[in-house]
Amino acid sequence: MPTLVMKFGGTSVATVDRIRRAAKRVGVEVAKGYDVIVIVSAMSGKTNELVGWVQETSPLYDAREYDAVVSSGENITAGLMALILQEMDVPARSWQGWQVPLKTTSAHSAARIEEIPTENISAKFAEGMKVAVVAGFQGVSEEGRITTLGRGGSDTTAVAFAAAFEAERCDIYTDVDGVYTTDPRISDKARKLDKIAFEEMLELASLGAKVLQTRSVELAMRYKVKLRVLSSFEEQTDTSGTLVCDEEEIVESNVVSGVAYSRDEAKLTLISVADRPGIAAAIFGPLSDAGVNVDMIVQNISEEGRTDMTFSCPTDQVGRAEVAMNKAKEDGIINFHALDADTDVAKISVVGIGMRSHTGVAAKMFKALSDEGVNIKVITTSEIKVSVLVDRKYMELAVQALHDVFELEKIA
Ligand code: ASP
Ligand code: MG
Repeated sequence: MPTLVMKFGGTSVATVDRIRRAAKRVGVEVAKGYDVIVIVSAMSGKTNELVGWVQETSPLYDAREYDAVVSSGENITAGLMALILQEMDVPARSWQGWQVPLKTTSAHSAARIEEIPTENISAKFAEGMKVAVVAGFQGVSEEGRITTLGRGGSDTTAVAFAAAFEAERCDIYTDVDGVYTTDPRISDKARKLDKIAFEEMLELASLGAKVLQTRSVELAMRYKVKLRVLSSFEEQTDTSGTLVCDEEEIVESNVVSGVAYSRDEAKLTLISVADRPGIAAAIFGPLSDAGVNVDMIVQNISEEGRTDMTFSCPTDQVGRAEVAMNKAKEDGIINFHALDADTDVAKISVVGIGMRSHTGVAAKMFKALSDEGVNIKVITTSEIKVSVLVDRKYMELAVQALHDVFELEKIA
């Protein structure tokens, strides 16, 4: 039997009624002849509630117990989904992570999947079970403790199962009907994409298009798992949703596929650091040790052996970055005159695999921003992306202007 993985996010299983609706979708695929692996999230809001209880109980919590509590939301949904399927006369069984067993590292609250043995579930399929309902987001460490995969981790569970069971496809049911050229809340011209390449999705996912957990896209790209993002609230047709696939499968596409943004960025500048070999390592080593997620980096021209170094990071990590830099200064590792922090910036990026073979995307982007009077503070580029930092108050204007200038509302 071919295998299909279907993942239902929190809003799709928010109530017993919604689980029933989701189960009907599962029934349709079973009727087509699939063995189905259903991955479920916790009911929407549940994980936040559980995290809140942990924080209230123990501010400096033991991460092992955090995982014990926070993983439990998925257990409820998995059991309920199996019960509803059984009521529908679909042979179904629920599985918690440890029962599979989905083996992970011991990095509690941010564990990585190491292995998914298929024997237990395959044996049940061979006995006539039609649906394995698996609790997403959780696994078991080598020490035998329950682990979780980080917020949004059920997406990663789903893709990992699709890879392990060589599923025909991995359908991600969510509350949006696909991946858009940009956030429809910002531009009313945003258009749903029928297909998007793994690499583009990876850029969009990590740039803040919150449809899929970034790690799930990395995994899908590595194992060439065909992913489909679709809404559990709409009738499905063959063209529903967005297919995230290998770029070979995309015949025609625009040079730019999407405009992404990330609101909570900060720009920090170390003013007047000595420009000598090893200076970048002396700055970014301590930042990395302090857990600061550095994104863009610009070293300015140097004068009389001194230079300014600018970098960006999430706003909520600015404090940590400042502590790390001041400490490095006290320890004599680096020397700078001042540390300037601008916490009111946003990052806007245009993404598209077409950029590999087309020139002029950056120039067109900069012109569009200048026409709107938006000042660019930092620029970085990659093979398929151009990103800029701008004042946060211009974020929406910039996204709209770029969506317009690249005519993303039109199909290639
Ligand atoms: N319930 C978990 C969370 O909210 C995992 C998931 O839904 O993907 O992060
Ligand atoms: Mg999610």
